[in-house]
Amino acid sequence: MRLEGKIAVVTGASRGIGRGIALRLAREGASVVVNYRTSKDEAEDVVREITEAGGKAIAVQADVGDFKQAQELIKTARSHFGRVDILVNNAGTTRDNLIMLMKENEWDDVIQTNLKSTFNCSKAVARWMVKQKYGRIINITSVIGLAGQAGQTNYAASKAGIIGFTKSLAKEIGSRNITVNAIAPGFVPTVLTSTLAEEAKEDILKSTPLGRFGTPEDIAAAVAFLASDEASFITGQVLSVDGGLVMQ
Ligand code: NAP
Repeated sequence: MRLEGKIAVVTGASRGIGRGIALRLAREGASVVVNYRTSKDEAEDVVREITEAGGKAIAVQADVGDFKQAQELIKTARSHFGRVDILVNNAGTTRDNLIMLMKENEWDDVIQTNLKSTFNCSKAVARWMVKQKYGRIINITSVIGLAGQAGQTNYAASKAGIIGFTKSLAKEIGSRNITVNAIAPGFVPTVLTSTLAEEAKEDILKSTPLGRFGTPEDIAAAVAFLASDEASFITGQVLSVDGGLVMQ
């Protein structure tokens, strides 16, 4: 088990990709803090699944877009498990609209939930990771942050922002044995993507060389790798896990 004894916090882990990441990190031996904002029952199901398999996990409610709540989340993780070794900034949302129609709150909500949350949680763990001279921060961006998408200026800006944040923080705290990387998933069927029109899904499938959609397990496998010692010389990178949809 590559993550035996490690403590991980996964934001937005009650369903979808975050759930897949939490289950995978636990299977690799990490104790996991399963963060959620509103989906308490689903988060507790994830915790039950981990503990029934012999792992350790707790569910912690926090809106990670809120600075104080993010601090409380990390504080709770530290007081329960003693430290935080791995932070996965996964919580995310969409409020799609064309720029002509986009309301200010649609912009603000997406930037706060996706980008500010990444700052909030990273800042909350950074000083402890610096002190312990060890840390892994993995930020979930998106192929949309690399390639852009009509109707998603807010989402694309938040995800491109995460990439700049990742590279800057990697340079800032690399000397303390802390790696900071981003993963850019392609299309993964989840609640987040459930409203996409069938036609648009077919177009994505046609543009994906590997000819299938991604799964939470595909993304989780890449997270587990970046969190492991095998990735100890990798930092400031954006790893696309997208079946070849967007090639840089
Ligand atoms: P999802 O199924 O909608 O799950 C989102 C998760 O985030 C839920 O657990 C939700 O919990 C939580 N969440 C949302 N706002 C939160 C907040 N303010 N504080 C704490 N938790 C919050 O979405 P997903 O598809 O798994 O997406 C996960 C991440 O992958 C996102 O960052 C997304 O942008 C990224 N991504 C997804 C795809 C895709 O195709 N699905 C592609 C590229 C990137 P509650 O219900 O409790 O709020």
